[in-house]
Amino acid sequence: MTALAQRLADTRSEIEDAAAAAGRSADDLTLIVVTKFHPASLVRELYDLGVRNVGENRHQEASLKAEECADLDDMTWHFIGQLQSNKARAARQYASVVHSLDRESLLVALERAGLDDPTLPMLDVFVQVNLTADPGRGGIEPENLVAFSEQVAAASTLNLVGVMSVAPLNEDPARAFDRVQLASEQVRSIVPGASFISAGMSHDFVEAIAAGATHLRIGSKITGERPLHG
Ligand SMILES: *Cc1c(COP(=O)(O)O)cnc(C)c1O
Repeated sequence: MTALAQRLADTRSEIEDAAAAAGRSADDLTLIVVTKFHPASLVRELYDLGVRNVGENRHQEASLKAEECADLDDMTWHFIGQLQSNKARAARQYASVVHSLDRESLLVALERAGLDDPTLPMLDVFVQVNLTADPGRGGIEPENLVAFSEQVAAASTLNLVGVMSVAPLNEDPARAFDRVQLASEQVRSIVPGASFISAGMSHDFVEAIAAGATHLRIGSKITGERPLHG
């Protein structure tokens, strides 16, 4: 077994344990392996190990990597980082899911791209909620979540699937994830089917599972340390 295969297997079994401890089924959890900064060859290795969901956070890098892996046609590419509105059209070419929808300009750009190209499939989107006190961080402010979700729900080429969050570094993740559950309830009051919660990274996926996460974005625990990026 390669080191990568071992780390993936260990992570999967820890996810199962955390799900069992929370009285949940691991079948309801989607593991997204975050491959940012790693080469396309790593995506291929993961594919051979059964991974069908990968996450990327920079458009340029993701776009090239997805192109290099175009033959892996049942791989789902999740865009999880900040996305500039002028890259929205290009991102829809490879990403099936955007986790980081957090402002009107991006919403408008993603929707326009979909309207302009009727051959594009519907795009699944999570609304990212900012859990920090710093409004400069990614994510919509919680007080604007309901109004923004109504706008997203009205878009005809986007499918609102739930909420996404990154736990702040300086706070107990379990406390932060309580606020994600609240945000999830607010979004479901507008779109009842938007029940997914994208939360949990290498260091806090256990707490995220306990708090109801359905989509885990796990990078370094599986891929090993990220190569430095210039
Ligand atoms: C990098 C990244 C992750 C994965 O982080 P790890 O600590 O390596 O597991 C998850 N979510 C987002 C938004 C990221 O940018």
